[in-house]
Amino acid sequence: MSPWEYADFDDHEAVHFFRDARAGLTAIIAIHSTYLGPAAGGARFWHYAQPDAAVVDALRLSRGMSFKNAMAGLPMGGGKGVILADPARTKTPELLAAFGRAIDSLAGRYVTAEDVGMSDSDMVVIATATRHVSGLPVAAGHAGGNPGPSTAQGVYLGVLAAIRRTLGKGSAAGVHVAIQGVGSVGGGLARLLAADGARLTLADLDARRAQALAAELGANVVPAADIMRMEADILSPCALGAILNERSIAELRVVAVAVGANNQLASPADADRIHARGILYAPDYVINAGGIMNVVLEYLGQGDRAEVEARVARIPERLEEIWAESAEAGLPAATVADRMAARLIGRA
Ligand code: NAD
Repeated sequence: MSPWEYADFDDHEAVHFFRDARAGLTAIIAIHSTYLGPAAGGARFWHYAQPDAAVVDALRLSRGMSFKNAMAGLPMGGGKGVILADPARTKTPELLAAFGRAIDSLAGRYVTAEDVGMSDSDMVVIATATRHVSGLPVAAGHAGGNPGPSTAQGVYLGVLAAIRRTLGKGSAAGVHVAIQGVGSVGGGLARLLAADGARLTLADLDARRAQALAAELGANVVPAADIMRMEADILSPCALGAILNERSIAELRVVAVAVGANNQLASPADADRIHARGILYAPDYVINAGGIMNVVLEYLGQGDRAEVEARVARIPERLEEIWAESAEAGLPAATVADRMAARLIGRA
């Protein structure tokens, strides 16, 4: 099937397929829009049982990046890299350098950073082959480096905004938050909420990871299969995509969903389903933009850590704007956000 026949094809400007057999690289770079600037978005290193799923991921994630960068007020378009890992997830310097060459061949139309399965040390290897890379280790006080902590900070501030709006409370103390996935984002979020005295329930496919963090923070752990139907105040999915679907939405037992991970709605109809259930929804690409703010400022050489923090601190304002319009127009928050973002990238 050609890329433009996929349901997730949304007038993407380009979808590039790369193969370097000697280096073991099979990768896709999808460029959704360069309307606001070069397409920025992380690269994912993941084993897909079906290669088609990698194409769908690249299409969906790159569109999400266009929307995320626009709503974050960044002068960047949206793109995403997807590296198709082997089942053992063998990641070699040769493979990463080949991915760097693939990026370089696009001459700055795509700028990468880390996403699931990639680290700042991987970015260092990619940087041997291209300068269109961010998320590199930086000295203290500078913008840049691993985007996870800035993403977690933005999601944390978004959770606090959701708590204010739904529970009328000024802090997370005593509020029960269920977190799916306790990696870079979910783990960071859990630590910030624990410091406020929140009650936490954690789940991760890597049960040992969840247990270790729970022991550190005094949290509860449930099996990964149960977290989506936990009775709690807020649910924060911080694992992988498309987990909010007809069945899981029907089972939700929370007043708000504040999404750390990307592309959480399995289909556009799921925005209506959450809205119909009266559950407050913080759109993924708005609440989790802290990391891209960090790495884009690094790439552009604009601003320091304090500037990143100031921008991340404005995420709740954007959410409030969306929720207010959603309440006024009687439309799902996700729909309102999509319309705002589409206007910003000239696709209203
Ligand atoms: P990570 O790899 O550090 O952590 C993800 C965790 O989720 C892992 O521990 C994994 O075992 C767990 N997981 C996967 N599927 C699960 C499931 N079904 N149930 C429970 N746990 C599951 O990744 P991360 O950097 O924390 O990113 C998490 C999500 O947030 C991803 O969707 C990513 O695209 C998105 N995101 C990340 C950033 C960032 O700065 N790192 C920025 C924006 C969005």
